[in-house]
Amino acid sequence: MAGKHLSEIDIQQIVLDKEKCSVRVRDHYNLCDECQTEAVQYSLLFAAIKQQESPVFDFDLSEVILKELPVPQPSGRMDKYFVFAILVAAICLAAGTFYFFRIYISGIFTNFSSTSAYFILTTVVSAAIILCDDIVSRFNKLSKILNSI
Ligand SMILES: [Zn+2]
Repeated sequence: MAGKHLSEIDIQQIVLDKEKCSVRVRDHYNLCDECQTEAVQYSLLFAAIKQQESPVFDFDLSEVILKELPVPQPSGRMDKYFVFAILVAAICLAAGTFYFFRIYISGIFTNFSSTSAYFILTTVVSAAIILCDDIVSRFNKLSKILNSI
């Protein structure tokens, strides 16, 4: 059959679970000898992989991984007081702000402008970007540690 053949992923999907494939993929597969030949090769490959014995390590893999992971530093008593002091200061600051600006608080929701919405949206998006960057950097650091084992 002339034209564009199925991708490797489509052919593997046909071998693994033909019912989940799209109609386009199934139609092409049923008409194309070349893709069917490739699917047979994949099915032989998958069968050979299933027959292989799972690897057995002669060492304790979990112990090796745990050795490579960074050990969390025990937090001292002063750290707990410092965090508590910051928390109390933040609560006092928020309470003071609400107390001194209480007459304007009701106006926040009644005079909500598009400019305010823009500032809130910008803040939320910025925080989300920073959090995502932090998650990705932690993931990369952890995967680098795991890959070096
Ligand atoms: Zn094809």
